[in-house]
Amino acid sequence: MPASSMTETQLEIISHSPAETAAIGEALAGCLQDGDVVLVHGDLGAGKTTLAKGIASALGIEDVVSSPSFALVNEYDTGLAAPVTRVYHLDLYRLRSEDDLASIGFDDFMAPTGGIAIVEWPERAATALPERFLLVEIETVRPGSRRLRFVPIPDDEVSGRCIESLRSHIGSNAG
Ligand code: ADP
Ligand code: MG
Repeated sequence: MPASSMTETQLEIISHSPAETAAIGEALAGCLQDGDVVLVHGDLGAGKTTLAKGIASALGIEDVVSSPSFALVNEYDTGLAAPVTRVYHLDLYRLRSEDDLASIGFDDFMAPTGGIAIVEWPERAATALPERFLLVEIETVRPGSRRLRFVPIPDDEVSGRCIESLRSHIGSNAG
């Protein structure tokens, strides 16, 4: 089978409100499992934390710290045994240098066997990112509207699984 046949096409969703962005995060949570890494790319105020809160909320976590936060990483227990036991929320906005990644044990979060990792400002850790992840890019379209782009990584298992799942979720809610 040619490799390209395994590759999902990009998925774009327009969100018209913070609540819609959170709901997309909630839908996204349904495809995630321990070991997954979600990279959320976008400018300040794009809605990265809003999306992360939606993911966490669907997993029973309601106390995600709002950005800006001084911690580079916050950990939350879902209280569940599976499919997601913990959420590691990383916000690298204040990372001064990639040299500082070692002090927070960044590599362990990028292979999160006991949870999922959600990373804001992943570009700050460009050389330390894992091979497999789900990439979400958020762009401001208008003051209340955002474009969320789920970018497939060729042949990557988590991005294939999640984009497929979101596509069917969106499809079933269309209209
Ligand atoms: P980031 O983490 O990317 O800096 P936040 O999620 O903390 O962004 O904040 C997003 C801001 O944009 C909030 O003030 C929110 O109310 C506003 N906003 C407006 N429209 C949207 C939308 N469609 N989705 C998400 N946030 C939105
Ligand atoms: Mg944020």
